[in-house]
Formats: sequence, structure tokens, C-alpha cells
Amino acid sequence: MTSPGAKCPHCETAVRSADRFCEDCGGSLSEPQKVAIPRPPSTDAPCTDCGNATPFDEYCTVCGHRRAQPDRDEASLGAMALITDRGIEHAGNEDAAAAGMLVGSDAAQPDAIAIVVSDGVSSSDEAHKASAAASKAGVDAMLAAIAASKKSRAAMLAGLDAAAKAAATAGTDSVTAPSCTYTAAIVIPTAGSAQVTVGNVGDSRAYWLPASPAAARRSRP
Ligand SMILES: [Zn+2]
Ligand SMILES: [Zn+2]
Repeated sequence: MTSPGAKCPHCETAVRSADRFCEDCGGSLSEPQKVAIPRPPSTDAPCTDCGNATPFDEYCTVCGHRRAQPDRDEASLGAMALITDRGIEHAGNEDAAAAGMLVGSDAAQPDAIAIVVSDGVSSSDEAHKASAAASKAGVDAMLAAIAASKKSRAAMLAGLDAAAKAAATAGTDSVTAPSCTYTAAIVIPTAGSAQVTVGNVGDSRAYWLPASPAAARRSRP
């Protein structure tokens, strides 16, 4: 089966819609699917502080009040589940997570999975912006690298590089740039098994929780 005009997103070579990989460059033709939390609240609700009813995003355009964020948000994608809660001692949730997968013809068996968790560093201003930007940029860059036939290690580093740049430019003031941790995993399913690559910066960690009697493991530090 051919779909007229279908082209490889990496090298522009014409491809057949049944192909999973480009025959020319070897890149993945799978579609990325993504989710990210926390999702922004509705922009239509009036300001709870001053009653301003003109739609606004995060901060009221009249009084500057920050729109109340939900204490918890959760999302799922394929076999992945994301949950984030507001820290007990914090007025707002400063953490974020994003996940994505490359899906070919079989949605139950993705070609690759990428996931990022970022904790906002509360001593920096607007930490929630850094964590949201870093987690989304990390997943985007990891999936793009894997789709372009990069190995997991190179994709992990590409994600970290994109996340660091996204966090550094997420705030409104470059002098007090917001900050966050970064913990990422790439899972490449293989026949009856999976290759898992983990990377982290800061004190958010990844845990491997195998069935007993194997011992649980934790990423450093
Ligand atoms: Zn190609
Ligand atoms: Zn207001």
C-alpha cells in the first residue's frame, strides 16, 4: 500500500505508509504521541481575587493574581501513568512530568517510550515554568533522536541538552532563571524484553522495582 506523497520526516525520501522505517536513512516513521502534566487550568474562569472576567492564562491581567492550580494532576499514555501533587509546604505545584512514545502500526507495542520527571527547585523563582519546559523539551528531543536512529545514550544526552536550554529560558528574568531537577528514562521494547536507559540530574531519582526476590535499585545520586 502506498499513500501518495508520504515522505520520511528525516530525509524527505518517499516512503510507503506500511513501512516502519525509512529504507533510505533508517529513521523511524512512527508517530509520536505525548502527554504532559500539570495541564494548565481553563483560561475562561474569572479571577478569584478581583473578579476580572476577561480570559487570561496564568496571571490575572488586572491584579496579577496567579490562577489557582489543581493540587493534583494525572495522565496516562499507553502503559505509562503520570501523577503530580503539590508539595505540602508549597503554595503551588512546582513539579512537572511528560511522557511520549513512538507508535507504528501497533499501538499496544510502541517502538520507543520516553519519560521525564522534573522537580521545581523552590529556592528559584518561577520553578514551575522550568520543570514544565524541561520535561516537555526532554521528551521531545529524546523521541526525535530515537526516531532519527540515534542510540538511547545519545538520545538521553540530546534530551538533557534540550531540557537544560528550555529551563534556562523558561523564566521571565534571565538573572533569576528558574531551576529544576531532571530524571529521564528511555524504554526500547524488544522481543520479550526491553532496554531501559536512565539519566538524572539533581536529587530526583529513578527506581527499578522488579518482582521479588530480585532487589530494588535506585539511580544515583
Ligand atoms: Zn529517511
Ligand atoms: Zn485579578
